[in-house]
Amino acid sequence: MRQTILLPGGAGFIGSHVAAELLTRDYDVVIVDDLSNARGDVIDRLETITGRRPVFYQADMADRAALERIFTENTIDVVIHFAGFKAVGESVQKPVAYYRNNLDTTLTLLETMAAHSVKRLIFSSSATVYGMENPVPYTEDMPRGACTNPYGWTKSMIEQILSDACVADRSLSVVCLRYFNPVGAHESGLIGEMPNGIPNNLMPYITQVAVGIRKELSVFGNDYPTPDGTGVRDFIHVVDLARGHVAAINYVNQHTGWESINLGTGRGTSVLELVHTFASVNGVEVPYRIAPRRSGDLAFCYANVDKAQRLLGWCAEKTVADMCRDSWRWQQYAETL
Ligand code: UDP
Repeated sequence: MRQTILLPGGAGFIGSHVAAELLTRDYDVVIVDDLSNARGDVIDRLETITGRRPVFYQADMADRAALERIFTENTIDVVIHFAGFKAVGESVQKPVAYYRNNLDTTLTLLETMAAHSVKRLIFSSSATVYGMENPVPYTEDMPRGACTNPYGWTKSMIEQILSDACVADRSLSVVCLRYFNPVGAHESGLIGEMPNGIPNNLMPYITQVAVGIRKELSVFGNDYPTPDGTGVRDFIHVVDLARGHVAAINYVNQHTGWESINLGTGRGTSVLELVHTFASVNGVEVPYRIAPRRSGDLAFCYANVDKAQRLLGWCAEKTVADMCRDSWRWQQYAETL
């Protein structure tokens, strides 16, 4: 039977790519987004890409009345919860706003799910929950660590809340997907990441330098104990990541209880390797200078991906070159919006 998947935050970078994967498969999609960090015309572009239009509600997930209406008007089978504030630096400036928003939206969602007997939830978590102390590659059996910023703590706290909820209600099924560094964009070039203001993350900064919006990239540190001295991350193509969510739907349909699962490639790429790959596959210049380390950054962050393979039957397939090509195609289109 066709399932209906609710995507809170589904107009954003990752949510919109999951929506595209679901619409091209046999799922009905309901997106709820307050458009605080996304554009409404993403819904039109999803229709252009997939030939199907998701149901869309512009609402804040902490708005209990709005959520109640959405759960009454639609029979939801699975929720994939993307809604939340996500800027690491801003979370340090506005911790209370981050805790209020990210925790409130999740608690209101959980209460509304319970009231409507919706038992399956996939949560957008992050590799940041491993903290500073665990050795790489990260495996899911490692303890969650001390996070370096309030954004990370909201992810860690929400994982704990969801785990406790699963102990209390044995019929719940929750998977926390721990994302590594999602980059790239849909092959159509019609959806992708659109940061507000100056990008915090590396790939959008690179694409904005390449297109001429910013003068040069600051590479934060070249004295780490890594092969070229720059930070090493597990960059994962957002379309691979989205397909991991489709696999997680199958999983929550068949199991109960709480699981955390890494979504990465299992391979590390340095900041400078990414910059050089981007420049060479796209034939563009990416001027950069070496800047001081950014506080809170680790030398290495990459996943062990055995659990995703074992439980979800999923692994990432796209290359760093694919990520660079697709990010660049999207940046050029985004200029026209
Ligand atoms: N980085 C950089 N310059 C930038 C943004 C990021 O050198 O303008 C580096 C950062 O220090 C880290 C890597 O790129 O080593 C990935 O950073 P990002 O913020 O994209 O993700 P994070 O791994 O911090 O979640």
